Amino acid sequence: MNNPFIELGIRHDIVNAISELGFENPTPIQEQSIPVLLTGSNDFVGLAQTGTGKTAAFGLPLLELLDFEENHPQALVLCPTRELCLQIANDIKNYAKKMNNVHVVAVYGGASIMDQLRQIKRGVQIVVATPGRMLDIINRKAIDFSAVKYVVLDEADEMLNMGFQEDIDSILSTTPEEKKTWLFSATMPAEVRRIAKKYMTDPFELTMGAKNTGNANIEHEYYIVRARDKYAAFKRIVDFNPDIFGIVFCRTKIETQEIAESLIKDGYNADSLHGDLSQQQRDKVMKRYRERSLQLLIATDVAARGIDVNDVTHVINYSLPDEIENYTHRSGRTARAGKTGVSISIVNAKELGKIRQIERVIGKKFVKAEIPTGFDVCEKQLFSIVHKVHNVTVNEEQIEQYLPRIYEEFKDFTKEDFIKRFASIEFNRFLDYYKNAPDLNANIEEGRNRFEDRGERGNGVRGNFTRLFINLGSVDEFNRGDLLGYICNTTKISGRTVGKIDVKGVYSFFEVQNEDVDKVMTSFKEAEYKGRPVRIEISGEGTSERREGGYRGGDRREGGYRGGDRREGGYRGGDRREGGYRGNERREHSSGGGFRDFSGKPREDRPERRRRF
Ligand code: AMP
Repeated sequence: MNNPFIELGIRHDIVNAISELGFENPTPIQEQSIPVLLTGSNDFVGLAQTGTGKTAAFGLPLLELLDFEENHPQALVLCPTRELCLQIANDIKNYAKKMNNVHVVAVYGGASIMDQLRQIKRGVQIVVATPGRMLDIINRKAIDFSAVKYVVLDEADEMLNMGFQEDIDSILSTTPEEKKTWLFSATMPAEVRRIAKKYMTDPFELTMGAKNTGNANIEHEYYIVRARDKYAAFKRIVDFNPDIFGIVFCRTKIETQEIAESLIKDGYNADSLHGDLSQQQRDKVMKRYRERSLQLLIATDVAARGIDVNDVTHVINYSLPDEIENYTHRSGRTARAGKTGVSISIVNAKELGKIRQIERVIGKKFVKAEIPTGFDVCEKQLFSIVHKVHNVTVNEEQIEQYLPRIYEEFKDFTKEDFIKRFASIEFNRFLDYYKNAPDLNANIEEGRNRFEDRGERGNGVRGNFTRLFINLGSVDEFNRGDLLGYICNTTKISGRTVGKIDVKGVYSFFEVQNEDVDKVMTSFKEAEYKGRPVRIEISGEGTSERREGGYRGGDRREGGYRGGDRREGGYRGGDRREGGYRGNERREHSSGGGFRDFSGKPREDRPERRRRF
């Protein structure tokens, strides 16, 4: 049987090269566009997501159509980012590996223009470029596009998004009228429709899936949490997916940095990618991500453009994008090359409307998911360890020398004992961490949730609950679960009767049922924590809530705290951690930051004319 690419009209030397890349069958977009593009006589509009095989869909026909005996530019591929530019140029070079005299040059900003000029001078048939640098080179009169036959506008929506419209106009004005233009775009906003009209005559249109829709292999999920629980909920989702290889999208550079910092402190392999990094730094982060030294890449929309990593299992929208189209771009980073993937959005109740809007645009329903309980996470992690042990590749040769000592160490263990202990190594970490972990789902169906929306009646009394102040907080290594455990142990009241718990820096608030107030106050009367008296007060009766700007805890100063360091949820005193809880490292609210409300911070993205929520 003939190779299916041969049947599409691709010649043997190219088919041999792509076979070596593992291309056995054409992807749907390749199957449908290659025969059309090979005629060389059509303008073309292809609506397709990233990761669908677009590059070969236009790259293979270009290699068929150009005359490689000639050494002048015959094809120009414009794309939005340096990463994509390099990727496309490399891909085309790989497809042409077995051909002679094929010269492809990647032209992009942030690298030496002299090198690029030299390569152009040596002779090139295919130029792959980002618009800014391309225009620069055109303005230097260092390239001649008068014999260009094909222009490819890849990720056209992204290029417009990034404000390249004028650059594209100027670049295209230097190419001949009769050239053919092939445009690829993941979405079809009105602006793309307009440039298609402007540059093309009667283009052949190919839509993979419905317009603006996402990839069918992506499942879309959302979780509803209270704003202050977002970080903790996010970590639970990550812990519930031990094999996650994900991209986490934030709206601002600051947010990406803060989340990445908190994750690193909490023991995850994570790093951030945003516009303030130098190209070198970005390359380094991407290299680590590609090599999977990083499990989580925290990125802004702009920085993540052109990320072409396969096998991304999850896209997490830590913050929803401002423009609906960006949601499609974000989620398109997973489920590439025929794989499946999950796009998760962590939202608060007020953002449900946005989810519905996205559903309408992508033509797909989101699934409402529940933040896993601590128990769920522990169970998941336990079986992940079990599977890992089951599937591990044993390096017989290397381990052999140690086996006698290992057997000796375990000689008194039964098989069952051994299995139990082995599985407990990691499991205990999670168990410790998640014991008493609170429910993080904001139960909006009931119109209220357990911790919120109780009518405030003053003097700490809210409905059946009284709000109490305690002079212990995150600097004492308490998260809400820890504090709940501590309160219940000390007072012997049931955790179920404790209401909302707010852990602050050097103090916290918690709610107990009105009838339990006396019992709690009495139980804590003589209580000490690490040699320090514990103070409980009814909130509002002389506690920090009355003071603007929060508690400045005089008694804590004696202990050596410096007020300036005390930010709500933002205490940075790393030294405090040494005395306290560290073992697991993965902490729900890290003392180094935990969740912060980032609202109101400037966005990295420049203002755009896109559809906004
Ligand atoms: P692209 O959309 O061009 O970025 O391609 C996404 C990924 O799919 C890249 O890693 C390609 O190497 C891979 N790919 C493209 N076409 C095929 C194919 N026909 N068979 C297998 N993998 C492919």
